[in-house]
Amino acid sequence: MKKYLTAFSLVLFSIVLWFLNGYSEQSLILKRISAPLQDVLFKVRYVSESRPESLNQIVVIAVDDESSFRLGVRWPWPRTIFASIIDELARKKAKVIGLNFSFTGLEGGKEDTTLALADSIRNHGHVVVGSTLDKDRPLRPVSLLLRAGAHYGYLEKIVDEDFLIRRSYLSRSYIQRAVEEPSFPLSIWKEAGQDPAALSDWKRKDGSYVINYLANDSDLKVIPAWKLLEGHISESQISGKIALVGITSSLMSEKHQTPLGLMSGVAVHANEYISFGESRRLHLAPRSITFGVSWILGMMLLVLLRARRFWLAGLGFLGCYFLIFLGAQFLFARDISLPLFLWLMGPTLALAIGTFANFMHLLFENKGLENRVIHDKMTGLYTYDYLRLRLDDEWKRCQKTMVPVSVVMTDLDRFKKINDTLGHEVGNQMILRASAVIKESVRGYDVVSRYGGDEFVILLWHANAQEAEAYRLRLRKMYEDMAKKLDEVRLQDSSISIGFASFDPKSDGENSQTPQQLIELADKNLFEDKESRRKPGEPKR
Ligand code: GH3
Ligand code: MG
Repeated sequence: MKKYLTAFSLVLFSIVLWFLNGYSEQSLILKRISAPLQDVLFKVRYVSESRPESLNQIVVIAVDDESSFRLGVRWPWPRTIFASIIDELARKKAKVIGLNFSFTGLEGGKEDTTLALADSIRNHGHVVVGSTLDKDRPLRPVSLLLRAGAHYGYLEKIVDEDFLIRRSYLSRSYIQRAVEEPSFPLSIWKEAGQDPAALSDWKRKDGSYVINYLANDSDLKVIPAWKLLEGHISESQISGKIALVGITSSLMSEKHQTPLGLMSGVAVHANEYISFGESRRLHLAPRSITFGVSWILGMMLLVLLRARRFWLAGLGFLGCYFLIFLGAQFLFARDISLPLFLWLMGPTLALAIGTFANFMHLLFENKGLENRVIHDKMTGLYTYDYLRLRLDDEWKRCQKTMVPVSVVMTDLDRFKKINDTLGHEVGNQMILRASAVIKESVRGYDVVSRYGGDEFVILLWHANAQEAEAYRLRLRKMYEDMAKKLDEVRLQDSSISIGFASFDPKSDGENSQTPQQLIELADKNLFEDKESRRKPGEPKR
């Protein structure tokens, strides 16, 4: 039993873990559980690492509520203001300007403002404008008038099932035309004179990579647009830098959930750029390794649990969690991402299945013990102790419902002689035959017990004295008939003494007797029966 249960739990553990391993790829629920676990790693790494160098290459020109108020404009801002921002950034010698907006079509149906913006863009020469790709609708392209002078890259941010942005594509193809469009940060990377080939091996097979969040909103140098336009900013703050112009206001709903918390869209793109600058990206650890490690740890825990090494298993479980967290953090600092959920799943599942298996084990063991206590080992009949408990339990019910009960006691006649002449083995067989006859003589709900040796005690429910007397005659006949059919001649005249006592609340009165008294009476009656049938010259008991 124990072996089967252990093997069963090990197999069950392996199958469930294997299933979870595959299922976690597709299951929305499992992804929702595991993603926040993963994000803890981002946060811990963020506080334990120093600020990335490439952060200093970027300055954010914020289109915020404060600027709207100071400049007296409402969102969307007129294109002429963007033209002024570009002119101002050009004067202050920004290396590249990224407009984290998409300018589609014309403003107010007229060309003049878009032409003014196009002029500013052309004058600077290194301006990247955003374009949006729309899954349902075709591309919403950059206004044709701007296209001539600007460079552009798509602004799309990929959102996971829990609406968090964790990764991005280096480039995407148009939905309608299969033309590759670089991401907004990648276009800026190119415009800044950086080598795009350096990123070529970043492309994963599915064209995706994970944004390696290295900076938070608050790490970025942010200049409100009004300060720039009103001349409060010195050239040294802008010169040679990449100026990203974007919305940082939550009022204009350009805030996104990222592993590091809420971030403006421009900060998401800045992060992507910083990742390029630091040559950092996340490598996903192979699933087979994850499964392997999780499985081995789980198996070890399960074996300990099944071997009832509970302290070791408990410590092992805590150790697993500790090591996995530590290991995951160590690897994450080196940009290797582990499906933490699956790593932890191994030990957790092992603990659950191991505990369940141990519980089942106890249950079986308990059942076995119970059987041993209430059943006589040799005959399989109930023990006398059990019969006594049943009698005490049911006594009140008999009193209440006025139902009679009879106790019958039996003792094989001259049994010692059988032992002495034919041997103990034959004696045992006779005890077994007697128990079979008695079992056959009663109804299913009567209780038959072995008192010990060659004595049996029987509880007959619903039987008054008259019925018990009839039972005595029937049992005696059944026993003697059985004996007569035996091959051994010396057993053929075997007989049985039977005594009984009955309690009938109706005629005797409810409180006339106790269970103990009833048993004593039955014993006395047995003695009388034995005496009355003793052969002449036979010694008394
Ligand atoms: P009586 O007619 O007065 O009942 O005499 P008896 O020989 O049957 O003697 P009694 O009932 O007092 O004793 C029963 C004997 O049964 C005593 C013991 O040696 C024997 N015995 C008790 N348990 C077992 C058993 O499990 N197997 C065998 N073979 N003998 C047993
Ligand atoms: Mg006897």
